[in-house]
Amino acid sequence: MDLQHLVAVHFHRGEVITFTGPMRAEKTTHLINLAKKIGKYSPYRAVIATNHLNTRDTDKEGNPVILSAGGERSELVPLIIDHKNPEELLEKLAEENNRDTPDNYGKTGPVDVLFIEECNFFDSKFPEVIERIKLEYPELMIVLLGLNYNFKKETFGIMGWANSNFTKYELKANCNILKGNYHACGMLTEYTARLVNPDKVEGYDGEKVSVIDKFGKKIKDTFTFDPIFSPTVLPEEKDTEDNEKQKTRLYTVACSKHHKLPYKKEALEIESFIKNQLISRESLPVEIVLEKFEKIKYHDQILRYLTEEKGIKYDNGVLILRNYVSGTAHGNYLPHPSENLKEGIYKPELRNLLLSEAEKELLKKLGWT
Ligand SMILES: [Zn+2]
Repeated sequence: MDLQHLVAVHFHRGEVITFTGPMRAEKTTHLINLAKKIGKYSPYRAVIATNHLNTRDTDKEGNPVILSAGGERSELVPLIIDHKNPEELLEKLAEENNRDTPDNYGKTGPVDVLFIEECNFFDSKFPEVIERIKLEYPELMIVLLGLNYNFKKETFGIMGWANSNFTKYELKANCNILKGNYHACGMLTEYTARLVNPDKVEGYDGEKVSVIDKFGKKIKDTFTFDPIFSPTVLPEEKDTEDNEKQKTRLYTVACSKHHKLPYKKEALEIESFIKNQLISRESLPVEIVLEKFEKIKYHDQILRYLTEEKGIKYDNGVLILRNYVSGTAHGNYLPHPSENLKEGIYKPELRNLLLSEAEKELLKKLGWT
């Protein structure tokens, strides 16, 4: 897809645009190229913001940089916003508008284009922040970048809101799953998938799948598709070798024919049952659910997942509904800011069984536990 026409900023003032798609769809490459064309060869000034979850992208001195998966790097120094405090964007944008030291393209003063990376990670206050920016800066062109879906094929965080409200450019990537003859599928797709090496986690085992990793290496029969009850957001382990075989988890791209999400059907069935019950009653004893679904393998893990991610809360033996911004039945649950998602989880210790030692270490280091 050619996005270079967006360099004609005067045609897009006041517009909000999204670049969305799966991993490896080259969203960031498009951003870097466009920001360069605007910065270097047009009269306009572009600024890039991202959030502090993007920890892997720093230069040798530890300063944040915008780096594509293929290694291209933007010359613009990004504004770093706390994903839980998207309001920071208002302050930082105001500072940028008053900037009198030239940026790396020699420009100062008012911002014409605001790119925001990793939007899928911002919390539910983000839409309001964008609406305020639009009111305050009616001439500004805003580009929101983010993953369309998580590996569970759910709209990813606020990207559902962004993609349904604004001009959407949907990029695709090639399916990286190997077919029976170990040849890559290659079909264009919009879905990200996640695989797990069952030898590295205690809590899950499934059918093996073969894949091309991000370095182009074939990894045969080592990984399995990560089940629906694995945590949605897990940081990627750093690459230590030129293949991904040694990792616990591997993010990839899979077409609708090859994408698998084990235990999705079962999780939906249990979720529907609980939420339908909670229409007519305030709380539901957890024993009722366990008894009804005892035959489903991993039912405890599924309940843990529903209480962690799907708007259900466990409290003293009963299940109740959490407060939400959107997503009640089978929509993606977007929690109300008042909800503490660390509380009210059914058997939270089960989560650890789905993580390897390396991942637990990484989560601890990032302060996510
Ligand atoms: Zn495929």
